[in-house]
Amino acid sequence: MIELSDLVLGPEVEASVLSVLRSGRLSQGPTVAALEAGFAELCGTRFAVAVSSGTAALVAVLTALGIGPGDEVIVPAFTFVASANAVLATGADVRLVDVGADFCLDPDAVAAAIGPRTAAVMPVHLYGRPADMDALARLADRHGLHLVEDAAQAHGARHRGRPVGSFGTGCFSFYATKNLAAGEGGMVTTDDDGVADRLRVLRNHGMRARYDYEVVGHNWRMSELAAAVVLPQLLTYDGQVERRRAQAARLTELLAGTPGLVLPDVAAHQDAVWHQYTVRVKGGTGAMGRDALAAGLREHGVATGIYYPRVLADHACHRTHPRVHADPAPVAEQLAASCLSLPVHAALLPGDPETIAGAVREVLGAAGRRRRASHGYAGPTAS
Ligand SMILES: *Cc1c(COP(=O)(O)O)cnc(C)c1O
Repeated sequence: MIELSDLVLGPEVEASVLSVLRSGRLSQGPTVAALEAGFAELCGTRFAVAVSSGTAALVAVLTALGIGPGDEVIVPAFTFVASANAVLATGADVRLVDVGADFCLDPDAVAAAIGPRTAAVMPVHLYGRPADMDALARLADRHGLHLVEDAAQAHGARHRGRPVGSFGTGCFSFYATKNLAAGEGGMVTTDDDGVADRLRVLRNHGMRARYDYEVVGHNWRMSELAAAVVLPQLLTYDGQVERRRAQAARLTELLAGTPGLVLPDVAAHQDAVWHQYTVRVKGGTGAMGRDALAAGLREHGVATGIYYPRVLADHACHRTHPRVHADPAPVAEQLAASCLSLPVHAALLPGDPETIAGAVREVLGAAGRRRRASHGYAGPTAS
C-alpha cells in the first residue's frame, strides 16, 4: 500500500528526544527556545512563539490581537474546522466566504464580505499553497484589518519569495501529519513586539513574572519533548520540501491530459510546500467520479484522502450556530464534491509516482469505458 502520509523519524530525532529525557527538563525550556529561533528564521520574522497546537496558536493570536465578542472574522468556507472554531472560541463571529480555484480565500468574495464589525481576515494556505497574499494583504491594509494567516499546512511556503506567516500573524501546526510533525504542537510568527510579548504571557497562565498574573491566560506551552522531535526535522526541512516538489512535478507530468481530472496548478510566483497533492475529479461524488476513483485506487494499493468532503457551513456544529454566518460558496461546494489528495510525502519511494499515476489512469480509463458503453458509444474506431 502506498500510504497518503508516512512519517519517518531518523536517528537525529531519537538522539534529540533522548537528550531532553536525560536533561530532566520536560516543559518549555532551551529546546523550545532553539525551535523558536529556527522557525523565525524559516519564516523571516523577528519573533516565533511556540504553543501547544495549531489551534492554540490561532486562539492565542486572535486573543492577543484583542478580537472577541462583537467582532467578525472572515474565514474560508473550505478549510479544516479548527480555522473557524478558533474564532468561535474567542466569542467572535465567523463569516464564511468562498474560495477560488486555488482552494484559498477569494479576494473578491472577501471584499464583498467586509463590514463594520470585520476585525480580521484569516487566509488559510491550504495544502501548503499560499493564498493570494497580494490582494488579501492589500484589502486588510485598506480596511485596517488584522491578517491572521492559518499556515498550519504551509511551513516554509512562499508568495513572491516571501514566506507565509510573515504577511500578518502566522499560525502553524506540528500535528502528527503536518510537514513538520511533533504529534502535537504549534507556532506563531510575528514582527510585532507587543503581540509576541502578549503571546508569551498568555501561553503561561497570563504570568508576567513569578506569581505576577497580569491577564487571565491559559496553558498553551509546548513541551521540550515536542520541540526535540521537530528541531532536527527543521534542520533538514529544505530537503523534504525539495522531495515533495519533485514528486508533485512528476505526478503532474505523468497525469497531464488525463480525461476527467483537473491537476493542481500553482502560479509561478508561488512556492508551495505540497502538504497535499490535490486533484479535482470532474464526475463529482457519483459512481463515475471522485468516490469511485478513491475506491478504485485503494484496490490498486494507493491510499487517498478527501480534504475536505464538506464546506464548514455543512457541518452540524456550524449549520445552526448563531455566530456562524455563511455567504454563498459555490466554488467551495464544488471543491468539496470533487477534491482528492494523492500521496506526496518524504517517505515515497522512487517509482511510486509512476505507480500512483498508472493506477489513476487505469481506474479512470475503466470508468470512462463503462460510461461510453452505457451511452451506447462504442469508441472512436466504430463507424
Ligand atoms: C491542522 C490544522 C489546524 C489545527 O492544528 P492542530 O495542531 O491540529 O491544532 C488548523 N488549521 C488547519 C488548516 C489545519 O490543517
